[in-house]
Amino acid sequence: DTAIDIKEIRKQFPILHQQVNGKPLVYFDNAATSQKPQCVIDALTHYYNTDNANIHRGIHTLAERATSAFEDTRKTVAKFLNANETEEIIFTKGTTEGINLVASTFGRKFINTGDEIIVSGLEHHSNIVPWQMLCEEKGAVLKVIPVNEKGELIFDEYVKLLSDKTKLVSVNYISNALGTINPVKEIISEAHKFGAKVLIDAAQAAPHVKMDVKALDCDFLAFSAHKVYGPTGVGALYGKRALLEAMPPYQGGGEMIKDVSFSGTTYNDIPYKFEAGTPNIGEVIAFKSAIDFVENLGQENIAQHEDELMAYANDLLKDVDGFTPVGTAGKKASVISFLIDGVHPFDLGQLLDARGIAVRTGHHCAQPLMEFFNIEGTVRASFSVYNTKEEIKYFVDSLKAVIKMFK
Ligand code: PMP
Repeated sequence: DTAIDIKEIRKQFPILHQQVNGKPLVYFDNAATSQKPQCVIDALTHYYNTDNANIHRGIHTLAERATSAFEDTRKTVAKFLNANETEEIIFTKGTTEGINLVASTFGRKFINTGDEIIVSGLEHHSNIVPWQMLCEEKGAVLKVIPVNEKGELIFDEYVKLLSDKTKLVSVNYISNALGTINPVKEIISEAHKFGAKVLIDAAQAAPHVKMDVKALDCDFLAFSAHKVYGPTGVGALYGKRALLEAMPPYQGGGEMIKDVSFSGTTYNDIPYKFEAGTPNIGEVIAFKSAIDFVENLGQENIAQHEDELMAYANDLLKDVDGFTPVGTAGKKASVISFLIDGVHPFDLGQLLDARGIAVRTGHHCAQPLMEFFNIEGTVRASFSVYNTKEEIKYFVDSLKAVIKMFK
């Protein structure tokens, strides 16, 4: 079994110890957002109880404490991603804002009429729509890597899309809808042969795989704190220094300037150039506690536990009448997307909720992918470090009971 003690881990998550609709909560909606350990909740309340002040400008003690804790998170994120430099980490609201930041600043400067941007058929809407908006504005062309029946990217087709016109490739590391793990290292090296830059949407990867921006050699990488046991409203964007320096600012305002004058304004250095306005200070500070939590457990140990849960679930689900998995990639992390013959996903979700089980139903913000499978949506169960085999057994038994009601 796993090197980590799941009972002890569960004790650190207060939210798990409650009844929902008269049953113990089984939280299988981790791909949407993970729950928060006590250390993250404590970091938030500690900040508001003792250190709350605006950062960077103050010389008083509270401002210094807040600034120092805020910048500590930046160092922690840089180490977490194995970035070369702390300045390569920009705080955002989350993955969505990270992608939009690149679309609007890198896009403004480097994307021109006739240029091509490549995404994949597996993407979340947040890695589709910003590029559609940019292409519309610039007269650029969006190309899509096709997906096979297993829900994997077709690599040969990807390579055929690349050309000297390709300026940017933006793909997810792990699909939130199906759990497919994409061969991002190979995707990046192929793109670089044509001088294209690559953005990795690591929203789903951050909690499950060790991310190493140096080993990957990605140009940008975005993720959200809330999927990796941290607070909502906070995320990080990694970018290579030379690129960040060449890109224009994102939003204008305080923090992002050196000097403002009506005869001309000079911008701050990276990363501050991209961080206009007062950020989510307390949440950024608590983001560090979330990363510490992950690193203390060890990402390999978390992944091993989740893989065991996946294997156990897949085994039990074989016995479920009418069970059809959607997405059967060889490499998957922590997500089981499925349909049950004759039962609408929405009904299934509600009937599971009545038994205390939280799953997600619908298109998972990946409508083009659902269109490919010719379905409206799926039921998605997604696992995290605090989930147990007992919960999976209860989930599968509940599924069987619900299906019986429809027979
Ligand atoms: N990309 C993927 C793969 C995701 O799973 C999500 C969140 N569901 C996002 C992007 C967007 O993240 P956020 O809503 O935190 O900005």
